Amino acid sequence: MKTIRDFDLLGKKVIIRVDFNVPIKEGKILDDNRIVMSLSTIKYAINQGAKVILMSHLGKIKNSEDLEKNSLKIVGQRLSEYLEKNVVFVPVTHGKELKDIVDSLKNGEILLMENTRFEDLDGKKESGCDEDLSKEWASLGDIFINDAFATAHRKHASNVGIAKYLPSGVGFLMEKEVEAMEVLMKGEHPFIVILGGAKVEDKIATIRHIIEKCDYLLIGGGMAFTFLKAKGLEVGKSIVDSENLSFAKEMLERYPNKIILPMDVVVAEEMKEDVSTFIVDIEKMKKELMGLDIGPKSVVNYSKYLENAKTLFWNGPMGVYEMKNFQNGTKGLLEEVTKRGNTLYSILGGGDIVAAATLLGYKDKITHASTGGGAILEYMEGKSLPGIEAIRGQN
Ligand code: AMP
Repeated sequence: MKTIRDFDLLGKKVIIRVDFNVPIKEGKILDDNRIVMSLSTIKYAINQGAKVILMSHLGKIKNSEDLEKNSLKIVGQRLSEYLEKNVVFVPVTHGKELKDIVDSLKNGEILLMENTRFEDLDGKKESGCDEDLSKEWASLGDIFINDAFATAHRKHASNVGIAKYLPSGVGFLMEKEVEAMEVLMKGEHPFIVILGGAKVEDKIATIRHIIEKCDYLLIGGGMAFTFLKAKGLEVGKSIVDSENLSFAKEMLERYPNKIILPMDVVVAEEMKEDVSTFIVDIEKMKKELMGLDIGPKSVVNYSKYLENAKTLFWNGPMGVYEMKNFQNGTKGLLEEVTKRGNTLYSILGGGDIVAAATLLGYKDKITHASTGGGAILEYMEGKSLPGIEAIRGQN
């Protein structure tokens, strides 16, 4: 697969598809990790004398009210601060104005086009990988570089469509993410998977696929209670995905020695930062309580499985890490994982676990914190990723 290094960029108009789909609340960027992670490719292109055209989506555009809150303008401002360089923001996604500004770019200059999904208002052209839109966008550049790993599971005009019409390669972030996924697929044993977070539903296909490959699946977070209930245990007011109890039961019956569940949990009457919390053994759960984190015995038990592990994939936090009183399970396990240093190839996949590792100060000690949530889960389901295949197909 070609990478940005394989092209002569000097004086060329280089379209870089980045993933600037960052969380924004009340006009403020909450987490700019994805912007930071794209900097190396963008800086490289600038330094090589390219005329850089950046494209990204942001959120979903279903009606005209979604337009203003999903504008990439503030992302452009943040990018400009990081690059210490002017980023020309173009508030449209097609037409003469865009073309004229692209044509006026000088070597080393950089432009950010408005949210590609603005084109979804007019018949889902971006998300439907519209042919004419793909051609129009491709006509703006000489080379296409896809660096948007977090979008790689989508077949959209701005990642798959453009690649059909231009010589294409991947950027540094995409290259790093693909390398990490290849390590995961080889999964040197012992290969441990940790799954947490709230929803079982989103992870069923991943569980089915990964359970065959890994040695142990350690389950925590809200998900664990669906499995504990399927075992016939009292789970009180903890979140349970009732529709998937039979799936959990089936998995427990088929893989009784592979699926490891919490032995104790941190409970409270409500999910609040200032409530009193208790630690209870899992058999002693009470009806009026809810489990919001794994307990210390579970951390010790899970750590045993990590002792000799060679590969780790971790998606989803062990508790409600956003609140101080339910962080310890996730923190304790992150400590154990990072203690292993280079002897354990550890990959965190998915927004929440990466956000937790960042918040708790462990992100830089992990082998690879992926920018992809949906993309990595689909890859773990055994699916190919259209955004990557579109580039691979070219060379
Ligand atoms: P997901 O998107 O499925 O990975 O879920 C991530 C969310 O799960 C985070 O916002 C956590 O606060 C939440 N979470 C983790 N553990 C629990 C729990 N025991 N009960 C409720 N929510 C949880």
